[in-house]
Amino acid sequence: MRCVLVGPPGAGKGTQAQYIAQARLIPKISTGDIFRLNVRTGTELGVKAKQYMDSGDLVPDEVTIEMVRNRLAEDDAVKGFLLDGFPRNVPQAEVLGRMLDEMGTRLDVVLELVVDDDEVVRRLSGRRTCRNCGTVWHVDFDPPAVEGICDRCGGELFQRDDDRSETVRHRLEVYAEQTSPLVAYYAERGVLIGLDATGPVDNVTDRALDALRHQGD
Ligand code: AMP
Repeated sequence: MRCVLVGPPGAGKGTQAQYIAQARLIPKISTGDIFRLNVRTGTELGVKAKQYMDSGDLVPDEVTIEMVRNRLAEDDAVKGFLLDGFPRNVPQAEVLGRMLDEMGTRLDVVLELVVDDDEVVRRLSGRRTCRNCGTVWHVDFDPPAVEGICDRCGGELFQRDDDRSETVRHRLEVYAEQTSPLVAYYAERGVLIGLDATGPVDNVTDRALDALRHQGD
């Protein structure tokens, strides 16, 4: 299955991508995770991306697209993938379409996670990420057994810089202006499925897997 997840920051893309990818045995390719890893390890790519990420803006397309092109060329992505956080605007979607054409394939489905703005702000302010394995938790909705510690690997949990409230508001504006047009773009191409992404994480995962069960192999 070749799938893209879209939805505003805080819709649960990272969390759902993790579960869907596991269930469907395909790699989760998260541009935000790849950028964060590069920032952490101080690569040239990380240095280029950091200033944009800190302010909640999109990293320039030429940087992002090259990174995705390289990732999609890796062996594990040949049979399918789940893209989380890419494309983030219509030009990126057009390039993705061309890349897949060149590979002789196409997207099976674009899953839109639908949540309203108030819910997004509530979710982001409580979100905590594991420094070690990247698992995402929430202080109220999906807390780990021990506060501040990842249940999966024992790593330390932290709050992303861009989850602070001023940056969250800006990221929502960026989503509305640049990313939300993708919903119409993919609806016109007949590949969009909208999914109610409110309620317990497990229920959203069940609904997502159900909606995707006839997609791809
Ligand atoms: P995310 O974890 O998906 O919320 O991404 C965190 C940040 O990484 C975003 O606010 C952007 O600065 C950057 N980023 C992630 N994906 C993209 C993309 N497809 N295009 C441009 N910037 C991106």
